[in-house]
Amino acid sequence: MTHVKKQIEFGPRPPGSTELEKTRSYIVNELKSYGVPVSFDEFNASTPEGNKKMINVIGEIAGETSGVILITSHYDTKFYKDMQFVGANDPAASVGTLLEIARVAASLSEKPKMTYRFVFFDGEEAFCEGWDDCSRDKNPDNTYGSRHYADRLVANKEIENVHAMILLDMMGYKKLELGRDTSSTRWLQDIIWKTGRELGHTKIFVDRDEGVGGDDHEPFLAQGVSAVDIIQLNDYPHWHKATDTIDKISSQSMKIVGDTVLASLPIIAAHERQTPRRSSAQ
Ligand SMILES: [Zn+2]
Repeated sequence: MTHVKKQIEFGPRPPGSTELEKTRSYIVNELKSYGVPVSFDEFNASTPEGNKKMINVIGEIAGETSGVILITSHYDTKFYKDMQFVGANDPAASVGTLLEIARVAASLSEKPKMTYRFVFFDGEEAFCEGWDDCSRDKNPDNTYGSRHYADRLVANKEIENVHAMILLDMMGYKKLELGRDTSSTRWLQDIIWKTGRELGHTKIFVDRDEGVGGDDHEPFLAQGVSAVDIIQLNDYPHWHKATDTIDKISSQSMKIVGDTVLASLPIIAAHERQTPRRSSAQ
């Protein structure tokens, strides 16, 4: 919750803003304080609001094998000309939870089987009001950071090592209930949902479908990577509203998701890869 408060104090944090730069420094300093080395993936994006410099932040805990599990969240807030949008759930809560997962994972004495890579994506949100309002062919107005990072992993052939991709997005609501995003990879989602229920959260990890319709996991799915979105979108009444404020968020909800992801990681690492690789030649 401290991480959430801190981000909200910076104010609205759209891509290219000094407020997002402050958020980035905060994330970097936190990761370093846990002993997690940090690197950056910088690029320029052409957006409906002009050219924006964007930066994905990457923290890594090295594992024993070449396999990599990506654990991710976007850290930008949606750009509004006339609205004070602070994004407590979208995305301050998922950023805070991801930091806490990194802190706990880094504190464990045993080296993980697979490398854990914590990726904070820039530019998830569309600049225009709707997700696809300003998307043009091969130039979507959304998921700028995740698309760039997935392309980079393809270019340097690291994508072959990515065993799974876990996305946290809007999972801090005090009335948390997580349905199953229908585009997510089923075996991966099953492990997380089963683990959450075994930890006693049967009313949180439910079986109803959650129609998401686009998020940072998509560029990875498109490359044949198993990916899951942990998201409560359709029954979060404050989505993209000025009322997405800290009073809608609970530390208990963030802890439930953080604990569940942490407990799922070794099970995911032990799971044999089932999704066929897609050829990287498009
Ligand atoms: Zn959003």
